[in-house]
Amino acid sequence: MECALVLKRRGHNPVIFEKEDQLGGLFLTASAMTFKENDKQLIEWYKNEIKKAGVEVRFNTEVNDLGTIRRGFDEIIVCTGSVPRTMPQIKGFEKTRTFRELLREKKVEGDKIVFLGGGQSSCEAAYDLVLAGKHPTIVEYGNDLVAAQATCLANTSFLRDAMEYHKVPVYLHSTITEIGDGYCVIKTPDKTFKVECDAVINGIGFVPAPVGEKAPHVHRVGDCVAIGNLRTVIWRAWDVCMRI
Ligand SMILES: Cc1cc2nc3c(=O)[nH]c(=O)nc-3n(C[C@H](O)[C@H](O)[C@H](O)COP(=O)(O)OP(=O)(O)OC[C@H]3O[C@@H](n4cnc5c(N)ncnc54)[C@H](O)[C@@H]3O)c2cc1C
Repeated sequence: MECALVLKRRGHNPVIFEKEDQLGGLFLTASAMTFKENDKQLIEWYKNEIKKAGVEVRFNTEVNDLGTIRRGFDEIIVCTGSVPRTMPQIKGFEKTRTFRELLREKKVEGDKIVFLGGGQSSCEAAYDLVLAGKHPTIVEYGNDLVAAQATCLANTSFLRDAMEYHKVPVYLHSTITEIGDGYCVIKTPDKTFKVECDAVINGIGFVPAPVGEKAPHVHRVGDCVAIGNLRTVIWRAWDVCMRI
């Protein structure tokens, strides 16, 4: 949306091809938590600007071969985002549920939810569950929650404090070795034990998923280049479009 708006302002005639029936991408999931009202408003602002600017959007249109659109356009900007990382070596990994299912689609039922991975997304989602009176658990391989660099310190310290204050069980230096129906097996440095749970959420991150090959007049923007956040996405969108 940022690319299309910048290009439109610069006199081009951009068209957005979107495989779903609405704009917003992963940020619809990212902003679904109860305490992210400003983020929801940002998506609405973008959608509104797209409408006001008269940008053509072709919904329900998945493009998996850039050749199919190459003839009609001078430049192609690939902004296809990412897909959840997988760890098939964990027995039962296919039973994990996604952030999208948990936050946006509200398809994950139950009270005891275990997060595999303790990054910002898991901690925010766990906090949202706590606010709803539910009982999350976080299992993190590293030695700290929200350890990724370039994350806002105010957010990370709040999330760590919130987990402690709400007594969310957090297992550091730990992993999940098996996921079954109604349980998972947690391995800490001291012991391996089974816990009952209603769902395990895949919180181990995302991997870039660009469509098509790199080629002249093909540009890439956003998480399909490297996993980032709205700031990295929007800044790169501006940089790329200013050169077109
Ligand atoms: C739980 C969670 C919380 C987050 N919280 C924050 C936060 O607080 N702040 C922040 O800045 N960032 C946050 N992020 C990260 C942020 O959501 C992403 O960095 C951002 O959405 C990436 O934008 P993008 O446009 O590159 O990709 P996406 O948002 O993934 O958009 C890609 C779009 O391309 C479409 N698409 C994909 N393939 C095709 C195809 N073949 N044909 C047509 N269309 C296609 C998709 O349907 C989608 O609409 C969070 C992420 C998660 C998972």
